[in-house]
Amino acid sequence: SKVRIYTIAKELGIDNAEMLSILDDLGVSYKSVSSTIEEDTVELIKGIIAEGGSRAAQSGAGASTEAEAAQTSQTQTPQPQTQVQPEQVAQAPATAAPAADSGMTAEELAELAALEAEEAAEQAATAARAELPHRAPVVTIMGHVDHGKTSLLDYIRSSKVAAKEAGGITQHVGAFEAQTSRGKVVFIDTPGHEAFTTIRARGANVADIAIIVIAADDSLMPQTREAIAHAQAAGVPMLVAINKVDLPQADPERVKADLTTINLVPEDYGGDVITVPVSARTGEGVEDLLEYISLTAELEDLRADPKGKFGGVIIESRVDKQAGVLATVMVQEGTLKVGDFLVVGENYGKVKAMTDSAGKRIKDAGPSTPVQILGFSEAPSSGELVASASNEHEARELVAQRQEQRRDEEEARKKPRLSLDDILGPLSEAHTVNLILRADTQGSLEAIQGILAKKETDDVKLNVMLAGIGAPTEGDVLLASTADATILCFSVVPSGAVKKAAENKEIDLKSYRIIYEMIDEVDRLIKGNLEPVY
Ligand code: GDP
Repeated sequence: SKVRIYTIAKELGIDNAEMLSILDDLGVSYKSVSSTIEEDTVELIKGIIAEGGSRAAQSGAGASTEAEAAQTSQTQTPQPQTQVQPEQVAQAPATAAPAADSGMTAEELAELAALEAEEAAEQAATAARAELPHRAPVVTIMGHVDHGKTSLLDYIRSSKVAAKEAGGITQHVGAFEAQTSRGKVVFIDTPGHEAFTTIRARGANVADIAIIVIAADDSLMPQTREAIAHAQAAGVPMLVAINKVDLPQADPERVKADLTTINLVPEDYGGDVITVPVSARTGEGVEDLLEYISLTAELEDLRADPKGKFGGVIIESRVDKQAGVLATVMVQEGTLKVGDFLVVGENYGKVKAMTDSAGKRIKDAGPSTPVQILGFSEAPSSGELVASASNEHEARELVAQRQEQRRDEEEARKKPRLSLDDILGPLSEAHTVNLILRADTQGSLEAIQGILAKKETDDVKLNVMLAGIGAPTEGDVLLASTADATILCFSVVPSGAVKKAAENKEIDLKSYRIIYEMIDEVDRLIKGNLEPVY
């Protein structure tokens, strides 16, 4: 019979990373910690653990067996010594045995030494990072309208956020901290849930994990696909919450089957996509979802330096009639303190007061903490990066530098010059043409994708980031701008607002009524990416 990797790790009292490293050593393949392995393998692992004691303490990252570890250390320090038993060496790896005993040729020894040097360098880098404390995961919830994003956030907020003292009003500040049995989880909670895409469009990734909410009575919908495309483009791990399972007409199996059609294969279909049935109404499954979030975060090994240079990003901001500008900042690195100077774009401000997401006054905030700040004179836009300066003078200088840089860039844009790249074509190998496809029906989308698949060459790859039914959205334009994609529409008409957004962001947005005209455009895009042949 088969068992899940993380279950076994828990049972054996080792962490997931160590478990995976043992599996790697054994040459067992897996997709994630939620993959299953054979009972026999488990026995093998138990043996290794019993034999080796704490492997982590013994060998750090992942030497394979004691004998091998011993041999490695023999070659590391070839001091003339004789008759050292492998067990002894394993216990004292620093002082070791003669190379002559290893039975290796000089060439093999040299190769091993090179490998070891490489590994040591890698381990040093990993070790430096491993010194940093863990930080809480920042999670965003995305999905189709009415599938339950707000309800799910409300449920988590009301059940996992410590009740405020009487009289306090809960204010939405764009993010909140939930206390779970496995530690803090930070949720992005902005009206309209656009922060993720807007912030991404500006180049900062604020979320570590994306929850894609899909209603069990409605399955995949256009915005579900959009959300998935955004998470994929951001390279953020996804968890699928199949919501509304309390409804009699709920059909979670259909959602899973539908996911396979867009290459997201759920675990019980043999894939690695984690799906969690939940109900934002009854709370069923929400604990499981939180557990999976912590598990995913553990695997991502999220760390940040609270003592490092401060870096953050604006989640949202608003102007309060009495207080003035209130901005929510997510601290990503370092620690933010009352009295610090902050620079956002070409503005700066001094942190006059700071509250946490529950409205409590605080004096400092470390990584993965959303804080509301009073002190900016102008409302910054969500997604803008926040830097700090140690005093007003420094803040002003930074702003001046940025202004100068912007002017230079504006100047440069005015006089177009041919670069070497323009003449010779970029010199990288395979080029990728990113596309967003929009069509009136699933049938036309499939037809178009079928033709496009045959257009790919060794030199130019076509990457369809999103293939959606219906007119393109402003979300598509954002996605296109983060990935430098072209939006092609077939038999659907973009709205004026979307056209305008595309214009502003200088995105190619084209509409066709005849498939082959659209394909001709793709041919042109491919040609544009080919290196000239001499
Ligand atoms: P959003 O647009 O994705 O934020 O969706 P909402 O959270 O506003 O939910 C849309 C509707 O679905 C509301 O009427 C909710 O009460 C309802 N809803 C949300 N989650 C559930 C659920 O788990 N079960 C049931 N029965 N209804 C739900």
